[in-house]
Amino acid sequence: MSIVETLPLDAETLREDFPILSTVIHGDRPLVYLDNAATTQRPRQVIEKLVEVYERQYANVHRGIHWLSDHSTDLFEEAREKVRSFINAGSAPEVIFTTGCTMAINLVARSWGDANVRAGDEIIITEMEHHSNSVPWHQLAERTGAVVRHIPITEEGLLDLDAFDELLNERTRIVAVGAVSNVLGTINPIGEIVRRAHDAGALVLVDAAQSVPHDKSDVQAWGADFVAFSGHKMLGPSGVGVLYGRLDLLEAMPPFLGGGSMIRRVTLEGFEPADPPAKFEAGTPPIVPAIGLGAGIDYLEAIGLEKIHQHEQLLAAQAHAAMEQIGGVRFLGPAPDKKAGIISFTLEGIHAHDVAQILDRHGVAIRAGHHCAMPLHKRLGVVASNRASFYFYNTLDEVEILAEALQDAKRIFRRR
Ligand code: PLP
Repeated sequence: MSIVETLPLDAETLREDFPILSTVIHGDRPLVYLDNAATTQRPRQVIEKLVEVYERQYANVHRGIHWLSDHSTDLFEEAREKVRSFINAGSAPEVIFTTGCTMAINLVARSWGDANVRAGDEIIITEMEHHSNSVPWHQLAERTGAVVRHIPITEEGLLDLDAFDELLNERTRIVAVGAVSNVLGTINPIGEIVRRAHDAGALVLVDAAQSVPHDKSDVQAWGADFVAFSGHKMLGPSGVGVLYGRLDLLEAMPPFLGGGSMIRRVTLEGFEPADPPAKFEAGTPPIVPAIGLGAGIDYLEAIGLEKIHQHEQLLAAQAHAAMEQIGGVRFLGPAPDKKAGIISFTLEGIHAHDVAQILDRHGVAIRAGHHCAMPLHKRLGVVASNRASFYFYNTLDEVEILAEALQDAKRIFRRR
């Protein structure tokens, strides 16, 4: 059943930039890569940039008084500027390079959290958070005696904003929320959440790991205080992520890690920290991964984020329609028009790992398990689920292969 005839992007042509996407596995199966929420693939333009830097432009940054170090530093700072512009941060020092989204959230929980959260204070997260945006807050609560509270989800898989209003009070210090759920695909109303949290005197951290790679982002329009995301989910190498923080907050926060680069002065008695961003980039930063992320951003901007978002939503809508025909599919999360290009589901009577294994025989790579969201799975009453997640290089043909492979899984298990 076809509800989508054409897509806004010519994915077949774009795929030519991605060497890995022409892989054939199990003898004759073209790889159908639908695990993009876990990590995306890289185009030649990013891979070639990494090679070019290592071959001709690499030295440590902010240290040497020599040509190569200056050159490498320029490239690293250009990457910071690309990130700044990509998310519309107000200034470059508000962009901190970390090792990933997880590190960025931990940085805030440790640095801002330890300095500002006390026993009896409240931290609000949601039932749909990735463990990266729940465990650091539980750890902060353990250290300080604060309490973690949760915005519940509705039966449809949306955040219950009325319940959020009831949770907010004068003890709420921070609200940490994902912009897009990595399981349900739900697109959360971040601007509205920030407005309500700020009215209550609380800060907001946005886990944007699943939104920044897929849709236009404007951290100033959101009004968010902190935003975290990872490079490897948006064409960049692994080992680099970003923390955006409002400059006044970053200036007031103590450094998280100590070491080289993050200091203005060190004496036998102690140290004086540098200004942001250096204050939060102790040691040698992820130099080449950050430059690679910059190349990934160039690639995404050349395509256009609006088109990417549209393309993925249409693929997900088509997959939804095709999977509905199979029977026995339970979708986790809202209808396609309320979510990003992520479809999590269970297939009646078949364990998620078995489904993923049968799909793999067809060349289809999807995720199976709890997707680092155990509390959400408990809330949904499922132990494990499957997740197909799309990017701009996926095609309608691949959606068809996914649906056929699911049919096959059903056939195989009916025979048993
Ligand atoms: N937050 C969300 C919503 C995610 O989907 C992920 C990764 O899957 C993370 C955080 C953690 O990202 P990383 O493992 O790159 O730090």
